Amino acid sequence: MPKSVAIIGGGPAGLMAAEHLAGKGHAVTVYDAMPTVGRKFLLAGKSGLNITHAEDYARFVTRYGAANSRLRPVLDLMTPEAIRVWAAGLGTETFIGSSGRVFPKAMKASPLLRAWLKRLENLGVTILTRHRWTGFDADALLFDTSDGPKHVTADATLLALGGASWPKLGSDAAWVPLLEAEGIDITPLRPANCGFDCDFSASFDTRFSGEPIKSVKATSAAGTTQGEFVISKGGIEGSLIYAHSAALRDALNRDGHTTLILDLAPGRTVERLSTDLARQDRKASFSTRLKKATGLDGVKLTLLREVVPEVSSLSPDHLASRIKTLPLPVKRPRPIAEAISTAGGVSLDAIDDDFMLKVQPGTFVAGEMLDWEAPTGGYLLTACFATGIAAANGIDRWLQRSPG
Ligand SMILES: Cc1cc2nc3c(=O)[nH]c(=O)nc-3n(C[C@H](O)[C@H](O)[C@H](O)COP(=O)(O)OP(=O)(O)OC[C@H]3O[C@@H](n4cnc5c(N)ncnc54)[C@H](O)[C@@H]3O)c2cc1C
Repeated sequence: MPKSVAIIGGGPAGLMAAEHLAGKGHAVTVYDAMPTVGRKFLLAGKSGLNITHAEDYARFVTRYGAANSRLRPVLDLMTPEAIRVWAAGLGTETFIGSSGRVFPKAMKASPLLRAWLKRLENLGVTILTRHRWTGFDADALLFDTSDGPKHVTADATLLALGGASWPKLGSDAAWVPLLEAEGIDITPLRPANCGFDCDFSASFDTRFSGEPIKSVKATSAAGTTQGEFVISKGGIEGSLIYAHSAALRDALNRDGHTTLILDLAPGRTVERLSTDLARQDRKASFSTRLKKATGLDGVKLTLLREVVPEVSSLSPDHLASRIKTLPLPVKRPRPIAEAISTAGGVSLDAIDDDFMLKVQPGTFVAGEMLDWEAPTGGYLLTACFATGIAAANGIDRWLQRSPG
């Protein structure tokens, strides 16, 4: 008689666990609050589905900050190479982009998800949508369904409910108070890979909202990286900002203020800029001198003015140094609902090595709802897949140990 497993949450973590548990012969049912599963996975596909990263694996496993040592053996269960093989097995060939990020050749998630759901169906996995988990009732799981409340019992349960970003896709973190009520330690949820408000002037906003700032270097406690970002309504967002977002968010939390240091002319030294600025005809306008000497104009020039209003009266030396180290004040992270991912969640100390809740034997946790974070670059999906497998292995061991 197969043992029953209830997986709550049909995102990448829950579906990967379902595949492994069904493959081991267990009777798996996936419950999801939404009318369809994998909605955030499909959204990730809108920007190409960066499914993993091909950098040196020794470097890859250091991307999870404070959770590095805990996730290290777990990532071995689904390495970047194994993800590419898994996707190929579902008919999705991948390629390595110039930055080392790995994408499906089709640059979308839907063919992969379709093939994956077909595989799950062939493995006998049942998927019940429009089932919103609302908590525990003694040994039963409680769901709100279109037919009213429902009690479900299973030999083991996996919670794979996701974080708190993009709640309209299903992961709304309504599980936080439910688990806290069970005495489970939850690290407060915070936005990760998010944009920031900078309180730009209304005129700057109106003129430049949506404009990219290209070829720029940014420095924070996270280090220095080159790339581009976008002026959003009142602030900044985009891949370069996400790379610094954990450092900026933590500095704001700790100190109440912080700056992102920008180098607006990464190709030139401060000395070269200063010499070229000093050489300009003093009778020409400031913007003409700046453009001729440094190449800066448009949004970069206006950002410089926005941050340093007295910029046109600076000496060539001071102006050059502002261009190379422009301290952009960052006020607050954008709301978690807009973030790519979530930091915080079920404390890693609250689960054992099998991803089972210490205070609730038989209930396991996987995916983004656990307390780890990582930058964009395919690290998020990789850890969701890997923790899904780790929890599935833990559930399998638990079911083999349990009587009946
Ligand atoms: C715009 C965007 C782009 C992204 N791009 C990438 C990318 O390119 N690469 C990458 O690595 N990562 C990317 N991510 C992040 C990645 O999609 C997530 O980390 C990943 O989907 C998390 O997987 P998960 O299974 O833990 O949770 P989720 O995918 O959030 O799935 C959780 C599931 O649980 C269900 N659920 C929640 N609460 C309940 C409840 N009470 N009852 C029943 N069901 C419930 C939800 O409906 C959902 O289906 C992106 C995220 C966003 C928002």
